Amino acid sequence: MQHILVLGDQLNLERFDTLAPSQTRVLMIESLARGRLVPYHKQKLVLLYSAMRHFWLALEARGFEVFYAQTDTFEQGFAAYFEQFGNVKLEVMQPAEFGVAEQLEQLVQQLGGQLEVTENSLWLSTQSDWARYAKGKNSYRMEFFYRQMRQKTNWLMDGNQPIGGQWNFDSENRQVPPKGHVFPAPLVFVPDEITQETIQFVEQHFADHFGDLAVFNWVVTREQALNALQRFLEHRLALFGAYEDAMVESEAHLYHSLLSPALNLGLLSAKEVCLAALEYQGRVPLASLEGFIRQILGWREFMRHIYNTFMPEFRETNYFGFTTELPDFYWTAKTKMHCVAKTVTQIQDSGHAHHIQRLMVLGNLALLLGVRPQAINHWFLVAFVDAFDWVVSPNVLGMSQYADGGRFTSKPYVSGAGYINRMSNYCLSCVYNPKLTVGDKACPFNSLYWHFIDKHSERWKSNPRMSLMLANWAKRDANEKQQILEQAKKLLENLL
Ligand SMILES: Cc1cc2nc3c(=O)[nH]c(=O)nc-3n(C[C@H](O)[C@H](O)[C@H](O)COP(=O)(O)OP(=O)(O)OC[C@H]3O[C@@H](n4cnc5c(N)ncnc54)[C@H](O)[C@@H]3O)c2cc1C
Ligand code: SF4
Repeated sequence: MQHILVLGDQLNLERFDTLAPSQTRVLMIESLARGRLVPYHKQKLVLLYSAMRHFWLALEARGFEVFYAQTDTFEQGFAAYFEQFGNVKLEVMQPAEFGVAEQLEQLVQQLGGQLEVTENSLWLSTQSDWARYAKGKNSYRMEFFYRQMRQKTNWLMDGNQPIGGQWNFDSENRQVPPKGHVFPAPLVFVPDEITQETIQFVEQHFADHFGDLAVFNWVVTREQALNALQRFLEHRLALFGAYEDAMVESEAHLYHSLLSPALNLGLLSAKEVCLAALEYQGRVPLASLEGFIRQILGWREFMRHIYNTFMPEFRETNYFGFTTELPDFYWTAKTKMHCVAKTVTQIQDSGHAHHIQRLMVLGNLALLLGVRPQAINHWFLVAFVDAFDWVVSPNVLGMSQYADGGRFTSKPYVSGAGYINRMSNYCLSCVYNPKLTVGDKACPFNSLYWHFIDKHSERWKSNPRMSLMLANWAKRDANEKQQILEQAKKLLENLL
């Protein structure tokens, strides 16, 4: 008999295709203590527990015996299993999060069992792909890892050259939808009885957690995940690339796939998502298809290797030595900054915001305010339905906060209001003016941005990608600089 431990982010049914139900027993543990480790968004907990409960039923429908332990701790779950089936050897796919395999191994051994860690089949790249890319390097760039993966998979390739003659089409992908543009209707997944029970369970046991449960619309089964994938490919992929950086107040998701929760829980594998998208080659613009493949084959895989390479030191990284705690409005949405208030409200309601909202609104502001990187990292881990340490830490500490000093990004992602004004319609309804830098009506992003450039100017001197910004700052006259820095100082003292 084979004993398989399935973790909450390993809900992959395909893996069971080759296993005989009569020879396989499955252990799943729903631990309350794990859910309380940080005040995770209530939608995240409903998503996770409902998906686990549906997975349990799906395995049973295939004839597998599932021991589903609803316990306070993981230890109690293992103990109950061993009590029933003896001190057996459990198998688990390599957990995505750092140190978890070792913690589980220790726990199981203490209880008299054994744990064998097997390869995680949900990733597209292997440790040796990374080793080949990373050999001899001390700084890393997604683009070159991605090119290696394109060559390995032969996806979007013509011999050893990229189809279309370019590896990426970013320059075509920075558009803003015209006024009156009609977006595809959002997908609706009405919660079934299991999900409704789970909503009540979460309200009961995690009442003080972040977020709202008034509307829950996440996929919790494989069928729903396949449906969401299909609908994305049919209705959104074609314009995914063009509008991937845009933000529209009334359209939270634009042409984004919303597949990250399903991917991160294992309901869909990265490979099947990419292969399904590649079926659309020739039917959708190459810039969109390549852009989407790059997010998964490139960024998603790259971030996971970055995480594995730099953990555990990565957790404490703080290049600028920032100490400011996170302002309350990240939790309450109570701020006059319209782009921030709208994005936080969207996250309270759904646990999701798209990449540019995360990077150029919330991450950008935290960096300009000098927030302690661990504080904003914690917030991102709590606030999103798709948040798991392996993907949050590199995206937040590395990409968004530059807290690692640029091990895999060439410059910090900071901007004034100009970027948000260009890429969104938020500024039209804001009390602040995106074009002003000083005065009561000035958008806080502007003076904070120049303050950031000025304060860290010594660091930028050796970074060619920051030289234009530095030169623009240097050009301003002393009086103007002083006014801008005073404005920023006031904002920083009062946290806006
Ligand atoms: C500060 C910050 C925090 C983030 N936190 C998370 C997080 O907690 N969980 C998470 O899955 N992603 C995170 N991301 C990456 C990205 O923003 C989300 O994956 C994306 O917004 C999810 O929405 P979507 O499925 O509609 O993505 P799409 O825009 O449709 O992209 C398709 C897929 O590409 C993958 N992807 C794209 N960019 C990244 C990336 N940078 N890292 C990893 N995968 C990527 C995701 O799996 C995503 O589902 C973060 C990015 C930033 C800048
Ligand atoms: S003016 Fe500034 S704060 Fe207001 S929406 Fe625009 S960028 Fe955001």
